[in-house]
Amino acid sequence: MKITFPHFGDAYIAISLVCKEMDVECVVPPLNNIATLERGTKYSPEDICLPFKVMVGNLMNSIDNGADTVAMVSSDGQCRLGEYGELLKSILDKNGYHARWILLDAVGDIGIKELLKRGESIWEGRKKSGLELLKALKDIYKVIKSIEHLEEKVHELCGYAVNPSDFKRILYDCKSKVFNSKSIAEANTVLENYHKKINKIPLNREKNPVKVVLTGEIYSLIEPFANQYLEDKLIDMGVCFSKKITIGWWLDTTITGHFKRMREIKRKNGYLNYAIGGYAKDTVEEVIEAKTKDYDGVIQLLPLGCMPEIVAKSIISEMSKEIGMKVLTIVFDEMNGEAGYMTRIEAFIDMLQRRKQYVLYGH
Ligand code: SF4
Repeated sequence: MKITFPHFGDAYIAISLVCKEMDVECVVPPLNNIATLERGTKYSPEDICLPFKVMVGNLMNSIDNGADTVAMVSSDGQCRLGEYGELLKSILDKNGYHARWILLDAVGDIGIKELLKRGESIWEGRKKSGLELLKALKDIYKVIKSIEHLEEKVHELCGYAVNPSDFKRILYDCKSKVFNSKSIAEANTVLENYHKKINKIPLNREKNPVKVVLTGEIYSLIEPFANQYLEDKLIDMGVCFSKKITIGWWLDTTITGHFKRMREIKRKNGYLNYAIGGYAKDTVEEVIEAKTKDYDGVIQLLPLGCMPEIVAKSIISEMSKEIGMKVLTIVFDEMNGEAGYMTRIEAFIDMLQRRKQYVLYGH
């Protein structure tokens, strides 16, 4: 059995480490690029959202490279995500890309017992015991959280760095070393070293950087190719930012914190009181929270064709005026005009900088 999965940010680092630990063969799709998107677009329904097209490209590349089993998360959510698993399988089958499929639906949809059964079937070719598998999964969760903790530090401090790009370099180095580790224990040691390294980057606390919240559709937030490597650009520009939606957050809310999540979803916020698919309700709430936490602005990211985030966008455009929070919405599509996105982001950050200066010094 050779397992594969579509790219979803740094998930490939974690999955390939567990595969090494379990002696299970895995095929990591080539990192996302324009060719992947073009390949996926060719076989996808024209009006489906962008993440689907990238995933088609990922899985075709992996099956070409010898994968015979596809594992991916699924959901019966109100948006198109509910169709992803079945539709992907059908498109790949029709075009001669056959594989065994393991769909990991949310606990609320299939129950914890069925989820565990499906989860276990991913590793059925392993040469290790069930207890060792459980330990590896527990340990990899810590690795994911540790990478995200490192990223949080970078996002929080890059605006104060003497040279913000130092943070970006260290983050890339660290992820590459974690990916190439021979075991989860080695990955943890690498991470410990990088946490120390990051604390030594020279800072200038006299700076008063712009602080923004990144919110929006989950795939656009987690997969750097889908947002044109926006986080790297913000780091280079010396903009501090925070991002709630990460793989660790998704694991917490989908698996371990399911009931807490259900309570959060039911909580009314006065602007969008019901879950309408994706994380649109969270997006609206993050804009409100950004105001209470004194952020300078919010950047909402969504891929072309994303239904829930378009609804959130229309609510936010009125709401942001009411609460006095600046919001920039960026819709990413397969036309990929990086310069166009960058001009808008630079103009938005520039406006926030001037506004901040005006509030502080009156000019
Ligand atoms: S949240 Fe948006 S982009 Fe993601 S699957 Fe749903 S419709 Fe598509």
